[in-house]
Amino acid sequence: MDGVLYIVATPIGNLDDITYRAVKVLSDVDLIAAEDTRHTLKLLNHLEISKPLISYYKETEKVKSKIIIEKLKEGKNVAVVSDAGTPGISDPGAILCSMAIEENIPVTAVLGPSAFVQALITSGFDTSDFSFYGFLPVKENVRKDFLKNLKERKETLIFYESPHRIDKTLSSMFEAFGAERRVVISRELTKIHEEYLRGTLGDMIDFPEDAKRGEFVIIVEGAKNIESDTDDDKIIECIKEYLEKGYSLKESVGIVSDELNLRKNYVYNIAKKI
Ligand code: SAM
Repeated sequence: MDGVLYIVATPIGNLDDITYRAVKVLSDVDLIAAEDTRHTLKLLNHLEISKPLISYYKETEKVKSKIIIEKLKEGKNVAVVSDAGTPGISDPGAILCSMAIEENIPVTAVLGPSAFVQALITSGFDTSDFSFYGFLPVKENVRKDFLKNLKERKETLIFYESPHRIDKTLSSMFEAFGAERRVVISRELTKIHEEYLRGTLGDMIDFPEDAKRGEFVIIVEGAKNIESDTDDDKIIECIKEYLEKGYSLKESVGIVSDELNLRKNYVYNIAKKI
């Protein structure tokens, strides 16, 4: 009988974020495929787990996947982990998963942290509709074109970034989305210096020097409807409807701006005319 491939999430900073199930699976499997064996060894030592490791990183993903598939075919249970967070999310893991599925090998996941989920759910932006892009293209003109194509997207946009490119990426975003677009930069999640920088892309141009260290997730609010295209009478009519239902002006403005996908400030300025 084939073994089982377990895709196991590990902490993105705080080691307490390992789940009981992850500890159990890592203790029980025959082999652990790790992005960086030295890195994973530190985690395993911390958990007092001793297991054979095989290195499995982006550049060797295809070759190593074949070796791991052979082990699974021999009936060995294998866990795949990355350096931090969830394998397959801007990390190796997806190729092994798809090869295992092709071979009818059972695949399951042991869920845990992923930086983008924490950043999204703490952003205060729409969590019902979002797109995850991971790392942006490094080449400046390619990155700028890529972002320009996202300008009109209404859903929340999620990006990963490293400290040495955060400045360039924020200025490309400023150029593509404009100064008014709201953004959250989530830094060093689950670590001692965890921080959320909230504001507009215009505010982030003066991104504080001491906040440039560490790891970042950038969450950009989706585009709002173009305000010059909106009908003020319709906005006033909607606001009146909610006021008549007993909602306060503030509540009515909140509901109507969500319904019409408009900025709250814009709706409030029109509501003041009532
Ligand atoms: N597989 C990981 C996950 O599930 O989130 C992502 C790995 S990717 C190679 C590394 C990137 O994830 C970093 O450059 C950063 O953008 C983001 N990241 C990882 N850990 C983070 C943390 N503790 N705080 C903020 N961002 C983090």
